[in-house]
Order: sequence, then C-alpha cells, then structure tokens
Amino acid sequence: MGKKTMIMFLIIFLAFVNQGCVAAKQLGVTGFPYILRESKTSMNQAFYSAGAENNGDTVKSTGSEMIVNLEHKSVEPAGGQKKVYLTFDDGPDSVVTPLILDTLDSYGIKATFFVVGTEIEKYPEILRDTAERGHSIGNHTFNHRYQGIYSGKNSLLESIRQNEETIFRITGKRPQMVRDPGGAVRKSESAKKFLAEKGYRLVDWNVESYDSRKPYLTATEIIEKIRQQSLQEDLWPEMIIIMHDGKGHMATARALPTVIDMLQNQGFQFEALKQTLK
Ligand SMILES: [Zn+2]
Repeated sequence: MGKKTMIMFLIIFLAFVNQGCVAAKQLGVTGFPYILRESKTSMNQAFYSAGAENNGDTVKSTGSEMIVNLEHKSVEPAGGQKKVYLTFDDGPDSVVTPLILDTLDSYGIKATFFVVGTEIEKYPEILRDTAERGHSIGNHTFNHRYQGIYSGKNSLLESIRQNEETIFRITGKRPQMVRDPGGAVRKSESAKKFLAEKGYRLVDWNVESYDSRKPYLTATEIIEKIRQQSLQEDLWPEMIIIMHDGKGHMATARALPTVIDMLQNQGFQFEALKQTLK
C-alpha cells in the first residue's frame, strides 16, 4: 500500500469517527459505555412496556426474567420499602409445618403462624419449635368449627380464649393476634371492636394464595396466583399473604421456596407480624 493511499484511508477513517461523535453529542451521549447503558435501558423499557410483566414467567430465572425483576425494583414506591408478611393458618401439622419451618430458616426469614388449639394438642412440640425459631404466633380459635364459633360473639370469644390457654401452656406466651377462620368476620367493624375491647387484634390479609381452595391447587398454581397479585402496585407497601400449613397442604410447602425467591427478586423484604402479648 502506497503512502498516499494510507493517508487517504486515515482521512476517511477520522471523518467517520468524527461523524459518530457529532451524532452522539446531538443525542446527549458522551461516551461509548454510556451508549451501551442507554441502549440496555431502552431495551428493558421496551420489554417491560410490551407487557413482559404479564407474560413473563418469573418462577425460574432466565436472562429475560432478570430484566423484568430489575424493572420491578426500579418502580418501587418512592421512599417506601416493599414488605411482605407470610402467614400460615390451620397448623401445626406433623409433616407440612416442619418443612415450612426448614425452608424459612434456610432463607433466614421470619413468618407468622395462626394456630388451631386441637392441632396444637396433637403436636405441642411443633408449636414450641415454631416459637423458639423466632416466628410470630397468632390465635386461629381452638377448634376452627364454623357452626360453633360463629353461633354468636361470645362463642367466638370463648374459642379464642380456650386457644389462648392452650398456646400459653406450651409457649408461656399469650399472643393477642387473631385470625378468624374462613375470614368470616374480618370485614366486620363491630366484630373487630368487640374483640379489641377484649384485648384482641383481628388480622386481615390482602393476598390470597388460594391454597385451601378445593380441589387443592398444585404448587405451580399457588405460585402463579401469588405472582399475579404481587404485581399489583397498590399492594406493595405491605402484602399480607394467607397460606395454610394444616394437614394435606404439601403443595404450599413445595411452592414456598419459589414464592420466596420470586418475591425477593421483586425487592420485597420479609417480616413476621408484630406479636402483641397480653
Ligand atoms: Zn383456617
């Protein structure tokens, strides 16, 4: 190659580079790495606005799901944390509860268990273990029988008090959080007031796992139900998820690790409900 040809190539090459810089400056972009970041962000936004949150499967992690998860973090409520409270009703059970406790321990997460007196009497050591591992305990009535506990306010109160005695005998504590079986009175202001006068706090939920719907859902279906609701921004400041650890709820135990992974990827912090004691 002759000297003149080389100079010509060099001039053409420099002209190209200069043109590129001018174009970048016009776009407000000042460097190559920044261009890369810019295009990646735009790609994420396009992916997100194309409805990725509705179609994407965040259950197993692949490259594209990571983009969805990052986008969730970027649209957190300003200044606020996204908190999630896992709550388990109807236990303890000799099979399901220990599996759930081990999963929670492996993630270092605390949860809340609304326990039933008749089940506590069968498995007192499991309730003791739950409390000793640092989880919150709530009262879910002594026998969970709708006809008896909902025949009147005093019947409900009596079943709650009987359960409180049972919990106290085993853990030495008297938790004042109550969840009404079937959620029968959770929307009733007069029931809440009545229980409050007796020192109890009725605890509601805003996310349904549907794990007690019959026939029972599979673990995959439970994960999907929770995933769909976890995308609702109005629930983000505090999601209280209702699940069940009573007999037969193996699907819940199987779904739990993926539920935790999914919500952690979405930026949720896990907490136990504050346990008020008498
Ligand atoms: Zn229940």
